[in-house]
Amino acid sequence: MIKSVLVTAGPTRERIDPVRFISNYSTGTFGYAIASEARRRGYSVVLISGPVQLRGPRGVRTIRVESALEMARAVKKEFKKSDCLIMAAAVSDWRAREAGSKIKRCSANRCIELIENPDILNSAGRSKGRRIVAGFALETGDLEKNALKKLKEKRLDLVIANRLSKKKTVFGNARTDVTIFDRYGNKTVVRNMPKSGIAKIILDKVSELGI
Ligand code: C5P
Repeated sequence: MIKSVLVTAGPTRERIDPVRFISNYSTGTFGYAIASEARRRGYSVVLISGPVQLRGPRGVRTIRVESALEMARAVKKEFKKSDCLIMAAAVSDWRAREAGSKIKRCSANRCIELIENPDILNSAGRSKGRRIVAGFALETGDLEKNALKKLKEKRLDLVIANRLSKKKTVFGNARTDVTIFDRYGNKTVVRNMPKSGIAKIILDKVSELGI
């Protein structure tokens, strides 16, 4: 039975020099909605959050991090004490190899060398044992195929897939569409629902899987 839930939310920031970073448009809305709903259901909840404008939900221990490496360290530590991980954070896939002194306007080399960040979800999926691990899949192409591939490869129990279209961004919107797949291949399609409502569906599924 699930008692403690670990949630990640928001973007990560990868420094390229002391004043600049690479990041993304994630606002943290989804992860914060999931953490709030989990707390409302009586779970003990830890939220690991990248830099966002949202206030930590009441009753939730919120750990603020900046980079993917910091998030990876925090997840590794907190996942040991949790029954379930829901990775809603938009983790940057890359970071700068070096982030030394401020890059000058006229610097000869305007290339930033990027190296891969660790895949936090993949590590959690592989080391989960009997714990539940859920991830998100933001896809532009074949939603079902790619989401199921992620579910299998990262050994997830649940994957929540969003389509990223040119017209509509999922970031920051209160309402969105998702397709959820569980480890048994069950598929649930949710259309134009507030993220708070989708958070309820995700937690229903997580608790069913954790029984
Ligand atoms: O493979 P992809 O990056 O599309 O997977 C998205 C899922 O993986 C999200 O749940 C995200 O939180 C997680 N992720 C991660 N570590 C990364 C990149 C993504 O845990 N470096």
